[in-house]
Amino acid sequence: MISFGPVPSRRLGKSLGINNIIRPKVCSYNCIYCQVGKTRRPGLTRQSFFTPEQIFREVTEHLKKLKSKDRPDYMTFVSNGEPTLDINLGRSIELLKGLGIPIAAITNSSMLPDPDVRHELMQADWVSLKVDAADADSWRKVNRPAEGLRFETLLEGLKLFAGEYKGDLRTETLLCKGINDSQENLSGVAEIISSLAPGRAYISIPIRPPAENSVMPPDLETMNLAWQIFREAGIETELLTGFEGIDTGFTGNIYEDILNITAVHPLREDALMELLAKSGANFSIVESLLSQRLIRRTLYQGKKFYLRDFQIK
Ligand code: SF4
Repeated sequence: MISFGPVPSRRLGKSLGINNIIRPKVCSYNCIYCQVGKTRRPGLTRQSFFTPEQIFREVTEHLKKLKSKDRPDYMTFVSNGEPTLDINLGRSIELLKGLGIPIAAITNSSMLPDPDVRHELMQADWVSLKVDAADADSWRKVNRPAEGLRFETLLEGLKLFAGEYKGDLRTETLLCKGINDSQENLSGVAEIISSLAPGRAYISIPIRPPAENSVMPPDLETMNLAWQIFREAGIETELLTGFEGIDTGFTGNIYEDILNITAVHPLREDALMELLAKSGANFSIVESLLSQRLIRRTLYQGKKFYLRDFQIK
């Protein structure tokens, strides 16, 4: 099956997934946290999997079967591996654009040094670039790239793409405890991302069984620190911690609002108090969420922050 969904996505609304890579997984990375499993042989060779016409036909048929209320907000290349390893990606995007639904692509960024890949991805309306590491050592540990890839070349590719891309640019950084969550790496990653000037950066954690069993999400204090470092670097930042709140704005339901907001970013205590006052609620609701371990309190520079508790209990 090439297309699936649409699935609800906090980043993209209703997203129709397009998997343009035939099984087994084909990727240029072998990330320790990959939820698709291990990459048998990470490679950099672009190949043909499906023809663009096949993809177009299947997606068109899929869309016809959907009720109008399920019409996707985006069609997203989210593959069984790295979507840019599909040599037909550009032509597929071109054809799909004719359907009048914006196209999104989530890439690990490794192929961006290739001008053809950059050119093809430029046609997508929304692109998310993976930036997990600030130096070659951390990069090798977390992403385990294919032989022949160099960190400096990757950085160059990221800069070239971000400098030219006219669509909605995002980045995603997945943090693993003790691997790429040090303050040094977080500051370095924030510096790289800030130079790319994305509309928004996402910080995520492993939420499904990872390729390596030993991989763990960072603790809450580290997530808070990561968010603060990104924000201090001037980056619009959102946490993706596995809680897809139904609404990340104010719903008027204080319980839902606190859960939704703290799933996306740490809520400083003064802002939380304001929110409570606006809703005519008192602090007991926060105590209740804390005691149910739905949120946790953490400190940053002497100030109290509240975050959705994503730790495995
Ligand atoms: S880039 Fe994506 S598909 Fe490839 S190994 Fe990493 S997480 Fe898995």
